[in-house]
Amino acid sequence: MTPHIRPDLADVPAYVPGKNVPGALKLASNETTDGPLPGVAAAIAEAAAGVNRYPDNGAVELTSELAKHLDVAPENIQTGCGSVTLCQNLITIATRPGDEVLFAWRSFETYPLATRVAGATPVQVPLTEGRVHDLPAMADAITDRTRLIFICNPNNPTGTVVDSAALHDFMARVPSNVIVALDEAYYEYVRPTEAQRYDAVELHRRYKNLVVLRTFSKAYGLAGLRVGYAIADPAVTNALLKVHVPFSVNSLAQSAAIASLHAKDELLARTDSVVAERERVTSELREAGYNVPASQANFVWIDLADDTTRFAQEAMDAGVIIRPFAGEGVRVTVTHAAENDRFVAFARDRASR
Ligand SMILES: *Cc1c(COP(=O)(O)O)cnc(C)c1O
Repeated sequence: MTPHIRPDLADVPAYVPGKNVPGALKLASNETTDGPLPGVAAAIAEAAAGVNRYPDNGAVELTSELAKHLDVAPENIQTGCGSVTLCQNLITIATRPGDEVLFAWRSFETYPLATRVAGATPVQVPLTEGRVHDLPAMADAITDRTRLIFICNPNNPTGTVVDSAALHDFMARVPSNVIVALDEAYYEYVRPTEAQRYDAVELHRRYKNLVVLRTFSKAYGLAGLRVGYAIADPAVTNALLKVHVPFSVNSLAQSAAIASLHAKDELLARTDSVVAERERVTSELREAGYNVPASQANFVWIDLADDTTRFAQEAMDAGVIIRPFAGEGVRVTVTHAAENDRFVAFARDRASR
């Protein structure tokens, strides 16, 4: 007999990670190409010597370092096994089956998957023509079943950001008992225009229902260790702690994250070259005739509609793995000039054929 498994899981797909192919250049998962700094590698090695012990379940030292760096109280921080887990845990604390989770589409794949796993109902509001969150339309889509709203800024996979005024107007329209998760996984890569500038930590003081999500996986280069954090009102962090899988933020991750915060300036300096490359790659792709929205993340989006799957396959044949979203476009990670050049050369060559 087949085991009893919730029938509604049958048509929920598993998360599809970026492909790894030996010898190919992977620009599919928004990782950094640089490995950990020597001091961070040393902290990991030191923590490795103690893995016979359970990690600190409260991540007390990391939480207090984060609180200091962000100028909030430790009670305002909850760490998680990657911010992906915090997305899941927010859905767990906010929804029961039938409740609605609202987000833009296309956006981060985890939102619909985790919503359906929880038995809640995803409500997707299309991005604008320019591939930006349509915040007024999202506010219009709030119902009395809405329990949680994700705003992904910059948006994965389009790289676009919202205007600060639009975000403020949106927050003013959201009922104060509906949690808004502002997913800032790519925060460190943002170089906002005046109109795009806002301070999420400040905003969370004003709106107690705002939860800011950040991660050590992207600009901090610790994707393999799995650690992210939420900045929120204690009412939310306390609930997040209740659904936290015990010991899921491992001791290597905690030590590496603390060491990375101490090396913050050096790590964040790396983002400047990615930002410069992002602008170069964007303009070269546009010159070649591609439709590329302005990105504020460490990746660019190319609108390709029906050509998407073939484009990604041909890139793969040329030794570059990118992330296709069938029928829509591709997302390409921006890293070092030499790596970016391999992709740009492929894209140019293809456009000229
Ligand atoms: C990469 C990413 C995350 C976080 O990833 P973790 O590795 O789980 O911290 C969260 N949100 C978005 C939009 C991302 O792209």
